[in-house]
Amino acid sequence: MSGSEEYTKSREIWSLKCAKCGRCIQICPTYKATKWEHLSPRGRIILSSYIEDDPELVKSIFSCLTCGICEIVCPSNVAVTDVIEGKRESYARAGILPAKHVRLLKNMVERGNPYGDEIETIETDGEVDVIYYPGCTSLAREREIFESTVKILKSMEISFGIEFRYCCGSTSLRIGGDLSYAERNYRRLKDVLEKTGAKIILVNCPGCYRTIKKDYKKFGGLNAEILHITEFLSLNSGRLKLKKDGIRVTFHDSCHLARHMGIIEEPRRVLTLVADLVEPEQSKMDSFCCGGGGGVRVSYRDLTRAVRKVRIEQLRKTGAEVAVTSCPYCYRNLKNGADGLIIKDLTTFIAERLEE
Ligand code: SF4
Ligand code: SF4
Repeated sequence: MSGSEEYTKSREIWSLKCAKCGRCIQICPTYKATKWEHLSPRGRIILSSYIEDDPELVKSIFSCLTCGICEIVCPSNVAVTDVIEGKRESYARAGILPAKHVRLLKNMVERGNPYGDEIETIETDGEVDVIYYPGCTSLAREREIFESTVKILKSMEISFGIEFRYCCGSTSLRIGGDLSYAERNYRRLKDVLEKTGAKIILVNCPGCYRTIKKDYKKFGGLNAEILHITEFLSLNSGRLKLKKDGIRVTFHDSCHLARHMGIIEEPRRVLTLVADLVEPEQSKMDSFCCGGGGGVRVSYRDLTRAVRKVRIEQLRKTGAEVAVTSCPYCYRNLKNGADGLIIKDLTTFIAERLEE
């Protein structure tokens, strides 16, 4: 059995552990939004025994946000997101994918990123302490996150360089694409670390964070500490010179950062340096997805809108003046359905409060 077949097999065995108890159903954002059991964790686990070119079967597997909240309540410890990602790989190998996912993977081949944009390559040659890898969304779509991060790092007098050529590969991994896109960026980052002597890779995006920190271990890992910007700012908060204005904010935890990677207190430590924080109805490990993850925003936009509406209302009910997140993709998605609520990425929020 090849390594990849073995991996797929172990994921199938996981699905057999499901006791079909149904505890996960009501908590699932896609079930909440639709009331269809094939769009719930239990439904997905049951249907993961099939691979057929049927639109509802395909939707069942590809409309999972991979948010992971179902795993918290599961008494059998079923790794639902792992089962879903494994099944997506099997579908992709069988040539069955939502049409927009096919386009997305084509963009990865042709342009090196899922958006299909011509994104500039940024390289660092000299010796630096930190390599800042901004990721596709900050560079190509939500540029102020990239600019704010650079502004913050300069104000902290950090020795850093910027690196970007390829997407980290997260988009591909989460929708069933092969490992080659992730490996391509792994090799590039490895070279950059050797060339610059940097010991830290800093990222904005929780998708990049999970991929570079966890998935790149499959290729041998990187000889550097991988830090999300909220960790870095929390660890180096003494170098931040900020104007505290006591504004009332709420915080939206990204599923990848909080549940998948356990980064929960760090963004709160940074925010409370300048603002008063009020928690929304679901937060930290219990956070409710923004509706955009797992490739759902690309192919099932109605589902994204319905889930996002629930989250926006939870954030609005706090009465906070601003809802802050620390994920460029959550920011992009929430902002597009904010209906008057002000959404900010944490980097922009902090950059706006730097002492001149
Ligand atoms: S990961 Fe999230 S969207 Fe997917 S089945 Fe579990 S709760 Fe539902
Ligand atoms: S909570 Fe776990 S065991 Fe129960 S139905 Fe959901 S996945 Fe299966």
